Amino acid sequence: MVPKIHSLGGYIHECQKGIANPEAFWNQVAESFFWRKRWDKTVEWDFKKPEIKWFINGKLNITENIFEKNLYTHANLPAIIWEPNNPEEANRVLTYKELLAEVNMFANALKRLGVRKGDRVALYMPMVPELAVGMLACARIGAIHSVVFAGFSAQSLADRINDAEATILLTADGGYRGSKITPLKDIADDALMHCPTIKNSVVLKRTGSSINMKEGRDIWWHDAIHGEPAHCEPEEMDSEDELFILYTSGSTGKPKGIVHTTGGYMTYTAYTFKNVFQYNPGDVYFCTADIGWITGHSYIVYGPLLNGAQTLMFEGVPSWPDAGRFWDIVAKYKVNQFYTAPTAIRALLAKGSEFIEGKRLDSLKVLGTVGEPINEEAWHWYHDHIGKNRCPIVDTWWQTETGGIMISPIAGVTPTKPSFATMPLPGVQPVVVDNSGKELVGNSVEGNLCIKYPWPGMLRTIWGDHERMKDTYFSRFENMYFTGDGVKRDEDGYYRILGRVDDVINVSGHRLGTAEIENAINEHPLVNESAVVGYPHAIKGQGIYAFVVCGELSTGGEDGIRNSIMKGVNKIIGPIAKPDIIQLVPSLPKTRSGKIMRRILRKIAEGDASNLGDITTLLDEEVVDQIIDGALVDV
Ligand code: ATP
Ligand code: MG
Repeated sequence: MVPKIHSLGGYIHECQKGIANPEAFWNQVAESFFWRKRWDKTVEWDFKKPEIKWFINGKLNITENIFEKNLYTHANLPAIIWEPNNPEEANRVLTYKELLAEVNMFANALKRLGVRKGDRVALYMPMVPELAVGMLACARIGAIHSVVFAGFSAQSLADRINDAEATILLTADGGYRGSKITPLKDIADDALMHCPTIKNSVVLKRTGSSINMKEGRDIWWHDAIHGEPAHCEPEEMDSEDELFILYTSGSTGKPKGIVHTTGGYMTYTAYTFKNVFQYNPGDVYFCTADIGWITGHSYIVYGPLLNGAQTLMFEGVPSWPDAGRFWDIVAKYKVNQFYTAPTAIRALLAKGSEFIEGKRLDSLKVLGTVGEPINEEAWHWYHDHIGKNRCPIVDTWWQTETGGIMISPIAGVTPTKPSFATMPLPGVQPVVVDNSGKELVGNSVEGNLCIKYPWPGMLRTIWGDHERMKDTYFSRFENMYFTGDGVKRDEDGYYRILGRVDDVINVSGHRLGTAEIENAINEHPLVNESAVVGYPHAIKGQGIYAFVVCGELSTGGEDGIRNSIMKGVNKIIGPIAKPDIIQLVPSLPKTRSGKIMRRILRKIAEGDASNLGDITTLLDEEVVDQIIDGALVDV
């Protein structure tokens, strides 16, 4: 069994082991899995090349560690609990045994279509169990999956398929999201006109929408598995064989095809899941992310299933049929651990607490957040209204590239502080460095967040572009992995993410993180959300431009709100952080994963709106037009 921490003393002890002898530390975790052949050496690494290898020459199959390893005890326990978009529709529960049968049948179907170890399979699917089945079937036979979030356009899908040179696409006739149907197959058809490597597309029937099936290329999912046996011998994989490619969400630029490999990713996601969320056998765990993002890969599919957990998968959206949907699901399944994003918390907070009233949330034990810094107001609302002051919040900092959670409380073990990701997990060695690359030791320091020692879950390369891997993460600072995020380590040694270093604003020589200023602005009772960026300022070097979303206007109108926001920021941080310009906007531009795209706002604030760069991951272009129309500078 994966080792579990139970106390603060235990946590500190494990951290010390992780630093004193990382190899022994990770060996102990990896030993809890089933390996066809044990590794010869724990780690080999060179951050200059860069080259990272874990559990060298170990042989395994990750699905064998999900299924065969757990079957004695878990065969008839739920693996995936699926809640459909429409609460009136019947849910589905797949036990470990049933899920394995589905995976094997589909794995056999893929083989029949000619898929071999190392081939790439793209998935463009709604949040239904078959999405997980498709991924695990790939892993079963050693194919590399590349899941593309089902909200992406035909162009974005085609770009990702072509970058990975995938030979098969798994999709569906459509996907339900709230009151809408996404015509996934139609979009896929458009994409496939530009994807010469795709030989077949397997189409799941979900919505019953009328679609075109292209003769010789398209096959229905149910036909593909028809008659396939429910047994499929797992392919023996090397630790360092690729498990999947996942394109980053694109907050900062052109998406990168992040590559994760088998042995290290397995070890890391299983360990972090069990410890951070303090999962106990029988608990129902609900992560609201989409599987199209790393959070869904690591903490809906792999981390939970490797631990024999019950993982709840939700097809729909938080706001439909109304803003109480998450809480209905929590009550319906007596969810114990609930993991979501700050953007969802802020949106639900803005709807008021009427949607929580009367809902039974007493099963909840742990609340989690991921994806962006969580501001204090949202943290407190989550803690008070959802957790009823009983549930620890795990503010988990990590990235697509890190594979799993890096800095986070261990639920109920690490004392928390609002808007702090708190401390690194055992086996993780973060450092704060100044711009010249000097490590800032001790507490009360602020700078660039880097990691100085490899961890099993880290990326191995960017698909097809190892140079970019080197440039992006290993060139800025010597011999360290650079995260791109700014961080503060406070007087207690607690880490607070300040936002991306590219977004740091330099006012009269003072470096200000976006998260800190936004946190102060969001304290204003009428503010739902905000984003700040720097713009050229003749005297200060950079000025602060704030884009603010308000629920309603107070009696003082727009100027009244601006003044009271200024006063609030002045009081919370100081006059240096007062915005020079406050533009009230209807909403903020976000990535499809729900993150604020400050890069676009910066262009607008700089008066350079004609040159927004890559906007393929932008959720809604109209929002940008509205902001440009109302801009308080010449654009
Ligand atoms: P791209 O790299 O393509 O620009 P992205 O960075 O948004 O996209 P992800 O890997 O999904 O893609 O997100 C990781 C980033 O999200 C982190 O680098 C950090 O900026 C932010 N983040 C994640 N979790 C937290 C957290 N708990 N607190 C603060 N920031 C977080
Ligand atoms: Mg990133």
